[in-house]
Amino acid sequence: MSSLGSLYQEVVLDHSRRPRNFRALEGANRKADGYNPLCGDKVTIYLRLEDGRVADISFQGSGCAISTASASILTETLKGKTEQEVEALFKRFHDLVTGETRDESDEPDLGKLEVFSGVSEFPARVKCATLSWHTLRAALKGQGGQVSTESDGSGQGSVGSGQGRSE
Ligand code: ZN
Repeated sequence: MSSLGSLYQEVVLDHSRRPRNFRALEGANRKADGYNPLCGDKVTIYLRLEDGRVADISFQGSGCAISTASASILTETLKGKTEQEVEALFKRFHDLVTGETRDESDEPDLGKLEVFSGVSEFPARVKCATLSWHTLRAALKGQGGQVSTESDGSGQGSVGSGQGRSE
């Protein structure tokens, strides 16, 4: 447990201090903004989607170490993946950070994303870890506007109407 804990810290700190793919993406054809009001994390995901595949991906934003590291590792992991692979990884990742365990043998390998398993012990940080994923999915779907983590949880996925419409 302690070795996993220190690996987790090491990787998260490394990615939060030196985020990978931290830039606006030239030639991006998808983009979405995400905001986690509980922590103040903000992220913008840029995507270049070609033939249903993530040809290139980058991000910008500001937030806590977990949100930055999560976005950084996400961009590293998802480059070259198809939309279906992204969706499968999102489900796996979501289960991981919410502490849900499923016994499905055809689940994709999370690779470096495994470092976020420790987040499941801190429910308040789950949204920091998933913010970039929700934002990415909005970008994939071509949804404009801002994604809020507060739409997470219920099957609907609707962002509370009547808030933040003035912009
Ligand atoms: Zn955060």
